Amino acid sequence: MQQLLSLPQEAMKPAYDVVVVGSGYGGGVAASRLSRAGQRVCVIERGREVPTGAFPARLPELRRELQLNGGKMRSGSRTGLYDFRLGADIHVLVGCGLGGGSLINAGVALRPDDRVFADSAWPEAIGTDGLLDLGYERARTMLRPARYGDAASLSKYRSLQTASAAFGQPPVPAPVVVSFEETVNPAGVAQAACTLCGDCCSGCNVGAKNTVAMTYLPDAKAHGAEMFTALTVSHVEKLSGGWRVHFAPSEEKGGAPSHVDAKTVLLAAGTLGSTEILLRSRERGLKLSDRLGERFSANGDIIAFALGGRERVNAVGVGEPPKFTGDTVGACVAGQIELPDAGDLDRSMIIQEGVLPSAVAPLLPVFFISGGRLLGAAQSLIKGVYEGPLSHLHTFFVVSHDDACGRLTLEKGSLQVQWPNVAEQPVYTRVDEALTKAAEAVGGRYIKNPLAGTNMGTKPTTAHPLGGCGMGEDAGSGVVNHKCQTFAGTRGEDVHAGLYVCDGAVIPRSIGCNPLLTITALAERAMVHLARDHNLGFDTAPIRNHADQEVVT
Ligand SMILES: Cc1cc2nc3c(=O)[nH]c(=O)nc-3n(C[C@H](O)[C@H](O)[C@H](O)COP(=O)(O)OP(=O)(O)OC[C@H]3O[C@@H](n4cnc5c(N)ncnc54)[C@H](O)[C@@H]3O)c2cc1C
Ligand code: SF4
Repeated sequence: MQQLLSLPQEAMKPAYDVVVVGSGYGGGVAASRLSRAGQRVCVIERGREVPTGAFPARLPELRRELQLNGGKMRSGSRTGLYDFRLGADIHVLVGCGLGGGSLINAGVALRPDDRVFADSAWPEAIGTDGLLDLGYERARTMLRPARYGDAASLSKYRSLQTASAAFGQPPVPAPVVVSFEETVNPAGVAQAACTLCGDCCSGCNVGAKNTVAMTYLPDAKAHGAEMFTALTVSHVEKLSGGWRVHFAPSEEKGGAPSHVDAKTVLLAAGTLGSTEILLRSRERGLKLSDRLGERFSANGDIIAFALGGRERVNAVGVGEPPKFTGDTVGACVAGQIELPDAGDLDRSMIIQEGVLPSAVAPLLPVFFISGGRLLGAAQSLIKGVYEGPLSHLHTFFVVSHDDACGRLTLEKGSLQVQWPNVAEQPVYTRVDEALTKAAEAVGGRYIKNPLAGTNMGTKPTTAHPLGGCGMGEDAGSGVVNHKCQTFAGTRGEDVHAGLYVCDGAVIPRSIGCNPLLTITALAERAMVHLARDHNLGFDTAPIRNHADQEVVT
């Protein structure tokens, strides 16, 4: 029986040394490192804890995990795993649950091109104090990215190889945070070996994906951190000598608003969540930089499809236990074509092949028939997506660069993304051209978006939102400094003692690769600074070497 990480709200104390808001990569790092430093840590997460085995495996379960928020419209549970924000200019998908986006992501873990950190958007110290490398090293030690050794045996990888002819650049296996062998991980958690079921993006029911809930959070719990779920933080209030964190039950019909105090608060609620909390706090009088909400980037992130190709791709997950036994699918992403542009960083892109989770399989024929693009989709309805034409469906994830000129604002109390004409960013044209060539190389047709006929399909969608509380040298250029401390006003370098932002919100530009490793590395780096500044110390030794620690199964 899996040991739960979270406690009932009644167990929350009135005050802690540290409150961490949100439990994705940034929050997981903060909770682990500061509890190791002997701090009494409380983690507050708006979503639920979803144990291994309880992730959605079928369409009705998946539907229950969808929350749609757009303007006046909202539907679904506020603790649903998939939080879709439908915007006037761009849609954003983020994860919601104990473990944040790690629960539903594809787990690709890459370090950006060095030119990204050479950009003047970053504070100088990021590139000079050597701690970024340490951050990446620690992130890799905990999350353990690995390349699947037999990628070339997977049909989807071989199809990517065929597509790569369009670029004269062969694919390489992609590093993913997946345990391909049974193991006890550095947090002391026993993990089963990946079954190559392909369902990473609906949550791993095997326990093989190295999510934050499998790594940093159990590590934090083992060092005394207390975690509370289904509680949404609205804002923070400055007290003399500390902070008050205001929250309420996430579901509308919950109990009354409440609060908890701490000397140090780390906002790690993600790009949208942390920015929203600070915007609300500013409305209530907290002095912050005028840059708050700016430099929002979609990380040049696109999902698109090719249909009707010659080869069987086999890129629909089968789940666990498998719904179909045939060729092995593979983890969500097994291979990528790296297309760096030596002369212009912004033109660089990475094309990854991807797998759609088995729970959406019943919807696929409907999507592709409604667009009228695949006559044979009806055949897939009959044979199932695993044998008919949809077994030749390519899913492509592309990451590149945009100009990070989006803006997050509060309108009538709810967060909005404003980015007029974002669809005209040159990145989308470049990606369309590249994927059209890739689709031709496999003998298929490029489908930019199966929802193109709907209002949702006319706008770009990103699963890699970045920025909003971007780093800068001072309050004139950023919301936080290179240590993730929040600037205390609109000018100068003074910071609010004890208020940090520690997640994707601090990244001030697109990074051109999947962001989880960089978010984790920047959080690790910030924790080294925080410990130095407060005379704290922590080690990062794996729990499995501590004879007195129980292995969590
Ligand atoms: C389908 C999908 C696939 C992806 N694939 C990849 C991939 O392969 N590789 C990669 O690098 N990245 C991938 N990403 C993106 C990656 O998961 C995110 O960039 C990453 O999770 C962001 O980390 P974070 O710490 O900034 O925030 P998050 O992981 O988003 O965590 C923030 C947490 O805060 C909680 N929260 C928000 N607001 C509040 C509040 N007010 N009160 C309390 N809690 C709050 C949220 O519920 C969430 O748990 C993918 C994302 C998605 C959705
Ligand atoms: S492929 Fe399946 S078993 Fe492997 S990490 Fe993804 S969801 Fe888990």
